[in-house]
Amino acid sequence: MKTFDVIIAGAGPAGLTAALKLAGSGLSIAMLEKDVFPREKICGDALSGKVTSILKRMPDGVFSDFIGSVDKLPAMGIRFYSPDMSYVDLPYLAPGSEEKGREISDIPEHAPGYLCQRYDFDNFLIRHCRRYRNISIHENTAIKKVDIENGTVTAETANETYTAKMILGADGVHSVVRRSLTAYKENKKHICLGLRAYYENVSPGEEQNFAELYFLKELLPCYFWIFSMPGNRFNVGLGMMQSTVTARKINLSKVLDDILKNHPKISPRFKNARMVSSLGAHSLPMHMQPEILSGDNFLMLGDAASLVDPFLGEGIGNAMASGEVAADIVKSAFEQNRFDSDFLSRYDQRIKHRILTDFGYADIVRRLACSGYLINFVVKRASRSRSLHKLLLSMNTDEVIRKKLASPLFYLGLLFR
Ligand SMILES: Cc1cc2nc3c(=O)[nH]c(=O)nc-3n(C[C@H](O)[C@H](O)[C@H](O)COP(=O)(O)OP(=O)(O)OC[C@H]3O[C@@H](n4cnc5c(N)ncnc54)[C@H](O)[C@@H]3O)c2cc1C
Repeated sequence: MKTFDVIIAGAGPAGLTAALKLAGSGLSIAMLEKDVFPREKICGDALSGKVTSILKRMPDGVFSDFIGSVDKLPAMGIRFYSPDMSYVDLPYLAPGSEEKGREISDIPEHAPGYLCQRYDFDNFLIRHCRRYRNISIHENTAIKKVDIENGTVTAETANETYTAKMILGADGVHSVVRRSLTAYKENKKHICLGLRAYYENVSPGEEQNFAELYFLKELLPCYFWIFSMPGNRFNVGLGMMQSTVTARKINLSKVLDDILKNHPKISPRFKNARMVSSLGAHSLPMHMQPEILSGDNFLMLGDAASLVDPFLGEGIGNAMASGEVAADIVKSAFEQNRFDSDFLSRYDQRIKHRILTDFGYADIVRRLACSGYLINFVVKRASRSRSLHKLLLSMNTDEVIRKKLASPLFYLGLLFR
């Protein structure tokens, strides 16, 4: 049996951020990870401004090492294409500006976001964790079961039992921590299935520094993407709600193939393209209902707490934000020797304030995105009307605007603009 102060289950962006934020705490941390690094993670690889600002707050030169040593391309924002191929550009926020109650710290010499393979990004984060003596990393160590008895957490793996005062469940969408400690049952209505592959020799888009998201009629309310990556590679993929895939018996890889071969606007860019990876599939747990975020001796982070933006499918920034908040709560729990659910529920309040309030607009926009006609309409209006475009740009920073976007009356009002 091995004993620590804290067990972190899973070394994705959520767990690794929590570990780095606890590096100077003096607490002993066991990071248990089923894979061995460097490892692939199926993802679109788009790091939003949220990620950049969190990296900036990390200790001991993490951000400057990211800028100096990690293979990546700058990303200035997202270009949304509607089914009729109208488009509108939404630039990423400058690092720091999405933080409520914090000063906007502008660093104009750096891009607001980046496109960076998860193979490289997650490996970069774990490389920094390896520098700290209080973080003990156990790879090839899959957690099978977690128990909590008399205030002690026990995590069982194939070869060892680990105990601690607290566990952070950062073990992704199929979280063993969540299944062991809560009455959680996966709701397929909230799962989006994502497919992605890397391609070479794709003709570049008109605006290379914008991630391209296409709302194609056949995928609504989800989308197809082409993201330009370092080394003349492209991350290409699509997502669709699992309930739609099952109800309509859709073969997603055929849908992708069909888009690349036959879509009048997209296929010409893939005429000479070559797939240079296997086609990978993974689930995105969209946040569409209240989730259990904490309880006696545990906190749930990132995908394990379904913290994926239900419209954009963005999950890395939210996973890292939950890691930052979790580290703060862990420190105060140890300071005050309080590991009970009452005390730890302050984590839920902070996550609601920092992440979940943003999802109100996302839910209504996602519903809107079920209709190709409505998307065509809103995107055309936004690309023509400077005031509407400005309004959409501020949806991440301004609480009043988010409330506006969450109201059906707003969309009705568009008809009369
Ligand atoms: C196709 C696709 C495209 C996406 N594109 C984007 C994008 O472009 N931008 C964006 O922001 N988000 C994107 N996402 C979402 C993003 O990938 C996730 O939200 C993000 O990885 C969540 O981080 P996490 O640390 O919570 O979980 P994960 O990254 O899933 O990490 C969990 C870790 O836990 C480990 N683990 C799992 N089970 C166990 C166990 N039993 N014991 C020990 N370890 C375990 C795993 O090996 C993994 O290392 C995409 C997702 C998909 C599927």
